[in-house]
Amino acid sequence: MAGFFGSISSHPCVTDVFYGTDYLSHLGSHRGGMATYDAESGHFNRAIHSISQASFRTKMEEELSKFIGNAGIGIISDTDAQPLLFNSHLGRFALSTVGKIDNLDELAGRALAHNMHLSEFSSGKVNPTELIGLMIIQRPTLEEGIRFAQEQIKGSLSLMLLTENGIVCARDLWGRTPILLGQKEGAMCAASEPSAFFNLGYTTVRDLGPGEIVRCYADRYEQLAEPLPDHMQICSFLWVYYGFPTSSFEGRNVEDVRNYIGFAMGKEDDTEVDCCCGVPDSGIGMAIGYSEGHNVPYRRAISKYTPTWSRSFMPTDQTMRNLVAKMKLIQNNAILRDRRVLLCDDSIVRGTQLRDNTRCLLDGGAKEIHMRVACPPLLYGCPFINFSESKSIMELITRRTIAELEGEEAALDEERVKAYTVTDSPEYKRMVNCIADKFGLHSLRFTKLETLIRAIGLSRSKICTHCFDGSSAHTL
Ligand code: SF4
Repeated sequence: MAGFFGSISSHPCVTDVFYGTDYLSHLGSHRGGMATYDAESGHFNRAIHSISQASFRTKMEEELSKFIGNAGIGIISDTDAQPLLFNSHLGRFALSTVGKIDNLDELAGRALAHNMHLSEFSSGKVNPTELIGLMIIQRPTLEEGIRFAQEQIKGSLSLMLLTENGIVCARDLWGRTPILLGQKEGAMCAASEPSAFFNLGYTTVRDLGPGEIVRCYADRYEQLAEPLPDHMQICSFLWVYYGFPTSSFEGRNVEDVRNYIGFAMGKEDDTEVDCCCGVPDSGIGMAIGYSEGHNVPYRRAISKYTPTWSRSFMPTDQTMRNLVAKMKLIQNNAILRDRRVLLCDDSIVRGTQLRDNTRCLLDGGAKEIHMRVACPPLLYGCPFINFSESKSIMELITRRTIAELEGEEAALDEERVKAYTVTDSPEYKRMVNCIADKFGLHSLRFTKLETLIRAIGLSRSKICTHCFDGSSAHTL
């Protein structure tokens, strides 16, 4: 995942860029970068840090004084080092990208064959942001270059460019990842999430449409390319998992959607439990809704331990990693002892987290553990946004379970897997029961796709649900 923030003002705006980017720290844990442009001196300043062992704020704070200017962009990312600086016939600019390029090697090969060179390497791989920059400068204007790059890639691509004349923002052609504009007296901003706006005094202006390109100035923005009609395929996982609770996308608030999902599930659930709780942080909104819908008390049976362990901190040693993963959650034995507990979580990907959570509740003395999940089972990898770092589809707990039930060939046979995407089909039920048994759960239920879509409140045709049902193939 990744998220960017940009601000342009009639006054120096380095602190807005710094804090605005920091507010997106939930979107990545690998690298953080910032670039500013000072019109007076004509200088771009840029810094990029690894944030896997310390937060963006800690790393960037030390050199904040070197940044000056009335315009800047910042990014938090799970992948490549950015923003990158370009000097070209289109002028100088700093570029940040959000998305995933599935045909990276093919495009890099094409660039090299055209006598271009790629100088950046992230972990020995081509840096996708550098490749995109090279594609942009092959066209006569920035708009044409951006569109060219977006049309060449497979996957998704939203961009933010800090230029000598404003900040240019371009949302992915299929709107897979969002960009929102904000404004305050004498300044404009743009970001992947509006949660960054409020404490910095910005109010949301609007979401960009799919494929829309705008240029922001301190007091206004101009549209460089109109949104593409009928192209919306916004990621449904924004609301389920990685969106911040206070953020709204396309007018739908993340916490509201989670409450709705929990409420709907609680209403139709006939399981008898003593209390419900949510796995912090993304499972809490659902649990609050479930508590209301099922008329059962919400209790904080698990709390997150954050004082010394940041979300991103992970030791390199595996034994230490296991220990740290457990230390981040602490169960409350006083609440759990002899209780039938219903646990809400955003999703189950590989099942590693679920194993830790179940152990946590059992250690605390829970009599029964019932699990409710805010989305349908994840049966497909995400080709669009770098959502999970899975190297193989067989890392998904669902596919591994199908392999146990029917053999690995069936688990890789897309036709066969389709049967498992249908809620309450015999295959679906068998898979869900098998996962529940594996983790010692008394019951396990996933949110139905229809409920998720109803909760998001957009038309079915505008939402990407590929990782649940394999759809959206027309845009692959
Ligand atoms: S495949 Fe899943 S995670 Fe990826 S964009 Fe679509 S809904 Fe989001």
